[in-house]
Amino acid sequence: MVELQRGAPTRPIEFGTPHGDVVSKIDAANVEVSGAVVARLDDVCEIAVDRHSLTEASRDWWPLAMMWATEGQVGGLAGVIARPADSEQVAAVLRICNDSHVPVTAAGGRSGVCGASVPVHGGVVLDITAMEGIVDVDTESMVLDVRAGTFGDVLEDTLGADHGVTVGHWPQSVNLSTVGGWLACRGAGQLSNRYGKIEDLVIGLDVVLADGTTLTTGGNGRASAGPDLNQLFVGSEGTLGIITGARLRVHPATGEPVNAAYGFETFHDANDACRRILQRGAAPAVLRVYDNIEADRSHGTGDRHVLLVRNVGDQAIVDAEMQVTEEECRSAEHLDPQLVENWWGHRNDVSGLEALTHKGFVVDTMELTAPWSAIDRVYEDVTAAIMALPNARVASAHQSHAYPEGACLYFTFASRPPAEERQRFYLDAWEAGTVASLKAGASLSHHHGVGMNRSRFMRSALGDGAMGVLNSVKSALDPHGILNPGKLGLDDPFGTPSFP
Ligand SMILES: Cc1cc2nc3c(=O)[nH]c(=O)nc-3n(C[C@H](O)[C@H](O)[C@H](O)COP(=O)(O)OP(=O)(O)OC[C@H]3O[C@@H](n4cnc5c(N)ncnc54)[C@H](O)[C@@H]3O)c2cc1C
Repeated sequence: MVELQRGAPTRPIEFGTPHGDVVSKIDAANVEVSGAVVARLDDVCEIAVDRHSLTEASRDWWPLAMMWATEGQVGGLAGVIARPADSEQVAAVLRICNDSHVPVTAAGGRSGVCGASVPVHGGVVLDITAMEGIVDVDTESMVLDVRAGTFGDVLEDTLGADHGVTVGHWPQSVNLSTVGGWLACRGAGQLSNRYGKIEDLVIGLDVVLADGTTLTTGGNGRASAGPDLNQLFVGSEGTLGIITGARLRVHPATGEPVNAAYGFETFHDANDACRRILQRGAAPAVLRVYDNIEADRSHGTGDRHVLLVRNVGDQAIVDAEMQVTEEECRSAEHLDPQLVENWWGHRNDVSGLEALTHKGFVVDTMELTAPWSAIDRVYEDVTAAIMALPNARVASAHQSHAYPEGACLYFTFASRPPAEERQRFYLDAWEAGTVASLKAGASLSHHHGVGMNRSRFMRSALGDGAMGVLNSVKSALDPHGILNPGKLGLDDPFGTPSFP
């Protein structure tokens, strides 16, 4: 059973073999870390080279890798873990690795679900989690200064108790993930309709480049001094620089939550109500639409497509937004608002995946954004493409985050194929779902990012021109390509890993 670790990474699943027998699964060049490099790293910060630590640091919550773990495999195996305590130590580690052309993969909570923190070419795992804690809270400007390795639950507990504020970034993985991981993956919390995604919350960053150069980006909101360099590093998944600290917006942690729930005849009708609410300027913190499959599975609501609404914040604004919501949902069936409390109470229970994996199920989620004008087609095409695969059991979706221009659709697929076909089904489902979604006008991801899992789709998602710009930025900032190679579809100087 998964045991939650407070302030430290939580392991996703038990290995099927002793740690000493765990091997690397992916066919990729492995860069040995020489004894001389290990000794130099040992001079600048805490390191670990024991087999238990190395195998644990070589995986995240990528569901495919969870299947591998049951067979004693990880995506790639780290040679050393470096655990810097501050940005000077990060810079020293990077200088050593840059001189020696050793890959460096940053890792926070290792809760990513796309294999982004897997050291696919071995080398150094740069464990960020010793750099933790609040530096300052400016309650007049409502700006937080925080170290990148701070875990979400620890951060929010301290902010609420000591300052009466919240960042408002509440991913389902808030207990599993760090501030640096949120920024590196361009994450979204469950209240993002009110507070925004992490890219909306960031005002400034402290970053260390591959050659050890340290820099600060941003600092004042809404500045006009060239392109926004914060946004260059947000979503870069450890490939362009290491984030050591951040300035984030915070908000008063006030008000009792208000809930409402509505039933609709079609998924389209429920989403269209959300579109109208948002386009009128109301942004209730949560507007989640479950298709009838997911609604019945989670809420026992039969054939209805269900909209859950939860709002927090200043009472005058909450009241106005709930009135707009009620007006736009007037013709829908009014359901018991307790449904929202039930979801809220269980929303962060992450114990199910380990049990399903052990039972032989293949389960994963695929989140993406699409404009409102394409939402119906994306929903139909992705579910149909996955259900057309042999062994497919279910493909369903909910709309998890919404904006005036469009929304995030969050698909779940599941199957229980024969053991030898599990990986094939997993890869085919991603292929079918991604090709269908891109063709129907969706983005590649909304908040889980790219990592290894989606790397192969990056060029078709971005186009040759944009992919070329991204590769140019990468080679300008990291000429030896040491930062998290094998990810984000970028050129890989160590040789593109062959996907199993
Ligand atoms: C059960 C579950 C629920 C989830 N729910 C959500 C959700 O609601 N919303 C959401 O957005 N995500 C969710 N996720 C995905 C995951 O938690 C997020 O992607 C999270 O932001 C990752 O943070 P982390 O600290 O665990 O990063 P890691 O997994 O350790 O790293 C992720 C990537 O970021 C890079 N990185 C980490 N720290 C740094 C740093 N300081 N500098 C540079 N690069 C860095 C790594 O190299 C890697 O590429 C969920 C995951 C699980 C397992």
